[in-house]
Amino acid sequence: MHLAGVCSTDLEMVRGYYPFEGIPGHEFIGLVADENGHPGLRGNRVVGDINISCGTCERCLCGGLSQCVCLKTLGIFNYNGVFAEYSKLPAKNLVSVPDSVSDVLAVFIEPTATALRILDQVRVKPSDRVIVVGAGRLRLLITQALKNTGCDLKVVVRRPEPAAILEGWGIQALTAAEVKGDLADIVVEVTGSPEGFALSWSLTHARGTLVLKSTFAGELSIDLSHCVVDEITLIGSRCGNYQAGLQALTSGLIQVGEMVDSFFSLDQGSEAISHTSQPDFESADQGLKAIHLYCGFGILIQVQNGFAF
Ligand SMILES: [Zn+2]
Ligand SMILES: [Zn+2]
Repeated sequence: MHLAGVCSTDLEMVRGYYPFEGIPGHEFIGLVADENGHPGLRGNRVVGDINISCGTCERCLCGGLSQCVCLKTLGIFNYNGVFAEYSKLPAKNLVSVPDSVSDVLAVFIEPTATALRILDQVRVKPSDRVIVVGAGRLRLLITQALKNTGCDLKVVVRRPEPAAILEGWGIQALTAAEVKGDLADIVVEVTGSPEGFALSWSLTHARGTLVLKSTFAGELSIDLSHCVVDEITLIGSRCGNYQAGLQALTSGLIQVGEMVDSFFSLDQGSEAISHTSQPDFESADQGLKAIHLYCGFGILIQVQNGFAF
């Protein structure tokens, strides 16, 4: 492993929101040390799809590898992650990264692919009114992906910092109070909070589409009448295509320069996680910036029963 990113999923795991024990971390760039019967891979700089699928079940055969019935997820579900010197992934998950792409940029391929997934699922037209609710790191990537469609784009934020970045990109940033009364053809919910969902739900126009990009800890109460009467389309959206992520980053269509905060060595991993957990990174706009861990040497970070040790 060369470099890994700490994201809000890692923090939620450390807090015990996910039933995970093992080594966390899923955003990375590394060098193939052992090609294990796959000639030509050794020495390649690679990133990797976080979904470890069987390739033989009905869901896999229908093309939905990330929907495999026995799916494991790198550093998230039943599979050790990348906050370590070495990690293991099936060869089919690996994507080679050209030397011209820096390690820092490469670590953003996974979240960028996740952001771009929305465009695989929803046709966004320049005439569409689109609102993104939330402005953290993934949200900034999603916002850039949507901006490239030429749509009428607004983002609901709670703090001034993301608003400044968004306005620098020519995107209108509004508070929840300011956006009240607006309606959009497409709303993207990226807060994972009941309040964020309620706001997104209320902003979705009749016959509009609500894209759910965050998971919700706990239960949500929804009045589904709005969905039926107004014929709302609800879309769940998860991981995306890594080649598309790589292309968007190398072409400059999606920029990440302002999103990198600091670097830690792997033996400072616990510090990196507590740094990322500071109120600056959390509260209203969690994970606006990214922390990177140099994983070339040092200790492993492990999570057990909700605590990093
Ligand atoms: Zn992540
Ligand atoms: Zn399968």
